[in-house]
Amino acid sequence: MKIILFGPPGAGKGTQAQFIKDKYNVEHISTGDVLREAVKNKTEVGMLAKSYMDKGELVPDEVVVKIISEKVSNLDNKGFMLDGFPRTITQANALNDVLGELNLDIDAVILLKVDDEEVIKRILNRQKIEKREDDNEDVVRNRLKVYREQTSPLKKFYDEKGLLREVVGIGEISEISGRIQEILDNYV
Ligand code: ADP
Repeated sequence: MKIILFGPPGAGKGTQAQFIKDKYNVEHISTGDVLREAVKNKTEVGMLAKSYMDKGELVPDEVVVKIISEKVSNLDNKGFMLDGFPRTITQANALNDVLGELNLDIDAVILLKVDDEEVIKRILNRQKIEKREDDNEDVVRNRLKVYREQTSPLKKFYDEKGLLREVVGIGEISEISGRIQEILDNYV
């Protein structure tokens, strides 16, 4: 199973990714996690990424494309779930190229739908617990703007390929997992 999980910041991608990973035994590849790890370790990529992440901007395409291409190429045919990638049309095209070379296809793209107000509420709540530097209100508003402008065009991109599956991301966590399972059971 090869899937992409996308949706606005705070949509619950990380939470549902954990469910999907446990349920279907796929490799979870989260660009946010990879970048945060790089920031923590103060690597060259990390230092560069931090300057963008702190403002709620996207890290340049070539940086994330390189990271993800390497990860995907090293999977040895294991199923995977991409979380937080692609986030731009450029990244989506680059992913297509990498998968094409490996002779792999995406099965489904799950869009977790949550409105802006709920997103802001959740993220400000999360900030109290996780202390992520990019979870303050101004940065969150910018992340939402970036999502609208740069990431949401992926909806049409994948819909035209017949891959888009929309899931309402509001409700109990288990309820949302159930909605996702209904879709993904078709691909096992
Ligand atoms: P969220 O989905 O809550 O915004 P993530 O953990 O997925 O959080 O991402 C945090 C930050 O990492 C983003 O705001 C962005 O700066 C950077 N980032 C993550 N994925 C990408 C990507 N595919 N392209 C560019 N930047 C990214």
